[in-house]
Amino acid sequence: MTNVILLGPPGAGKGTQAKRLVQERGMTQLSTGDMLREARSSGSEMGLKVAAVMDAGGLVTDEIVIGLIREKLESGESAGYIFDGFPRTLAQADALGSLLAQMGQKLDAVIEMQVDDAVLVRRISGRYTCGSCGAVYHDETHPTKVAGTCDYCGSTNLVRRADDNEESLRYRLTEYYKKTSPLIGYYHATGDLRRVDALASVDAVAAAISAALEQG
Ligand code: ADP
Ligand code: AMP
Repeated sequence: MTNVILLGPPGAGKGTQAKRLVQERGMTQLSTGDMLREARSSGSEMGLKVAAVMDAGGLVTDEIVIGLIREKLESGESAGYIFDGFPRTLAQADALGSLLAQMGQKLDAVIEMQVDDAVLVRRISGRYTCGSCGAVYHDETHPTKVAGTCDYCGSTNLVRRADDNEESLRYRLTEYYKKTSPLIGYYHATGDLRRVDALASVDAVAAAISAALEQG
């Protein structure tokens, strides 16, 4: 059982690599971003509350995202969790440690996905995803094989995120450096941090993550 955090700025490739780990290792992806987007599209009270903050690129409250993760951890068994986009604050990191400890589990690795800010604008502005299965694509680097159709599930519901614009990305990056990047120091201190060059190709990044996980 391996529990891993993918840590990095928006566009670093966390979702792309999480999907690979799901396919290759049967692990469970827990993306708070996906959970919040689902809450929005279902029109729930919480979804409506977080919509404006998400569109602007700000962070949703710790209370809400910790609640979402708690619910998932308490409701299922897994061959290992991939935390994608969570934790994003020190309070969330503490809460995750406590939740795992309560379940008799621990964190095995935190993968810091290192990129240059300059590539993020390109990655984010070309991103689109499958609205049905969540597969991640890019206009230039990873388009669907057949235009308009998901390679994995055949859906034609390909979508672009409302917050994938340059202005929101700038704010998301500020939030990342102010509130999330301190987690690099936090997990360095706990001995869990592994660094990966996330500027490399998707396959090379996947291989580096696998090597980091084997390292234990
Ligand atoms: P995150 O979940 O960290 O925000 P994504 O996995 O959604 O990032 O990736 C952002 C965009 O960059 C997507 O369009 C994806 O196809 C593309 N991408 C991801 N990894 C790479 C890579 N190693 N090289 C080039 N493009 C990538
Ligand atoms: P993501 O899909 O990870 O890029 O997240 C999209 C947006 O959802 C972020 O810009 C935040 O507004 C919100 N969000 C996702 N995860 C978290 C989190 N762990 N803490 C706070 N806000 C979050």
